[in-house]
Amino acid sequence: MALEVVLGIDIGGTFTKLGLVDRNGSIHFEDEISTRGYPTIEEFIKSLHSHVIQSLEKIDTPFLLLGIGVGAPNGNFYAGTIENAPNLAWKGKIEFVQLMENQFHLPILVTNDANAAALGEMLFGDAADMKNFLMITLGTGLGSGLVVNGDIIYEHDGFAGELGHVLVYDNGRQCGCGKRGCLEAYVSATGIKRTVYELMAQESLESEIREIPFSKLNPKMITSLAESGDPIAIKAFERTGYLLGRALADTVAHISPARIFIFGGLARAGRWIIEPAKKSMEYHLLPIYRDKIDIVPSALLDKNIAVLGAAALIWKRLDNKPVG
Ligand SMILES: [Zn+2]
Repeated sequence: MALEVVLGIDIGGTFTKLGLVDRNGSIHFEDEISTRGYPTIEEFIKSLHSHVIQSLEKIDTPFLLLGIGVGAPNGNFYAGTIENAPNLAWKGKIEFVQLMENQFHLPILVTNDANAAALGEMLFGDAADMKNFLMITLGTGLGSGLVVNGDIIYEHDGFAGELGHVLVYDNGRQCGCGKRGCLEAYVSATGIKRTVYELMAQESLESEIREIPFSKLNPKMITSLAESGDPIAIKAFERTGYLLGRALADTVAHISPARIFIFGGLARAGRWIIEPAKKSMEYHLLPIYRDKIDIVPSALLDKNIAVLGAAALIWKRLDNKPVG
């Protein structure tokens, strides 16, 4: 019997990653193509299609492709659109699912990458028995997937759950979305870098980071410097974790999740980000919520959660049974 698989696609600003995922979350084939260099979305989809067809022809084992799940910035699950994604070349409202169906002739579903990550955790990670949880992705930006009663919250316009763009400070740092003072401008790979440089301007503490140019610095370096006792790196994590924990306390008051998962480059900092975030969250929580909610790294931290999550969109639809 042919192995049933789903194609998971994650469209990022630079690369588009894809993989064939079976019902158990095993990835049978992985690949990536450039997202850049296509002036129109139609050209991109055409290239993606021929790439997928060529790749699938090389697979020896018989398989049955059931559908394609896609994670994309500003992907709208209900409308099947990608709308004004800041880091993609194609502007406006793209009828993505329609265009994909015309090319692939398969069921297609789209959502944003953080929602996809939450679905990945639900179907293939540590949230299998969990009906209420929160997924925070700490990459270049801050994404969030809110799961309530076993389903992602999409709500009225399909865009619910944008924790990255809640206000942290009036007239604060400029955010990529055009607003000022968003959480993402502080709590993300870019945000913590900005905090590091702010701290170096404010404090006369000695730090190895003073020798590192902004464009070279990344969360991995900040983490290893924190491990070696660098005071600027440690303070940067404390400030970042504090703001994350404060925002999470607000979100807990809205949806009361059982657990909070974090994923992405900054999540790899482990205790350096989790401990100050947890401390701050507990401090800011209404007492009825205290000591009940863990902040933990995703079980899929070392796997391709973006592709797994995108595929989970289709698997969840096919399952036809409540998760948990
Ligand atoms: Zn913003």
